[in-house]
Amino acid sequence: MARRKKVYEGKAKILYEGPEPGTLIQYYKDDGRAGATPPQAAVEGKGVLNNRLSEFFMSGLNSIGVPTHFIRRLNMREQLVRMAEIVPLEVVVRNFAAGELSTRLGIPEGTALPRPIVEYYFKDEKLGDPMVAEEHIIAFGWASQQDLDDIVALALRVNDFLSGVMMGIGIRLADFRLEVGRIWEGDFMRLIVADEISPDSCRLWDTRGTEAPDREGVTREPGPLADVYTELARRLGVLPSNVTHTTKPTLIN
Ligand code: ADP
Ligand code: MG
Repeated sequence: MARRKKVYEGKAKILYEGPEPGTLIQYYKDDGRAGATPPQAAVEGKGVLNNRLSEFFMSGLNSIGVPTHFIRRLNMREQLVRMAEIVPLEVVVRNFAAGELSTRLGIPEGTALPRPIVEYYFKDEKLGDPMVAEEHIIAFGWASQQDLDDIVALALRVNDFLSGVMMGIGIRLADFRLEVGRIWEGDFMRLIVADEISPDSCRLWDTRGTEAPDREGVTREPGPLADVYTELARRLGVLPSNVTHTTKPTLIN
């Protein structure tokens, strides 16, 4: 049997040629931990959970008419997707101040923003994915004004969907990042959600137990979820039953 062709290997995933033209197989690795700069050690089992989680979000989006690259999950670590021409931008949607927005503009982390804010970062790791304005994107031909209008509409629909799903399980979606790709249908081009939607692309805060003041009368602020991959999968009910959670051998004597 011929060996399948590796198309690309990134930090978190490997892309293989798919079984039909215009398709790709995404293999989810355990490397490339959420939000880590510089990259950190692998988290055992992360790839299995992100494969499930991205399937959950992408198929949910497909079912409400938001186009994504997701076709179907193949196994524990792989899914079949439509090959897209990736727009070289990371599209970030923010609902609450955090990270770079807080440091750059001096807005305290956790502040609710008056409306969702969409930002663009040029996808170039060597340059550290610098933030860019619409002017740069259009002048350098990364996307047209029409594409950007479509990208904002797409990003805001994804935001509403994800925020709602998260809210239902006691999680606040502070911000997330999307990749968008082009697919061609005859002479027509469509923009679709590509890459992955998982804890590696979302900033998630736990709101469970933050509503009521504790015994000292202090209300807990929403904070990061501990063991975010497992906890998110558990609350969404997508934990694969045949995953054995790796408990390290313990010394009993
Ligand atoms: P990186 O280290 O570059 O973030 P990843 O490990 O996340 O890479 O691998 C995913 C790569 O695949 C990214 O470069 C992403 O742009 C690309 N990609 C994601 N979805 C698609 C798709 N549907 N078609 C083509 N390329 C894709
Ligand atoms: Mg990536």
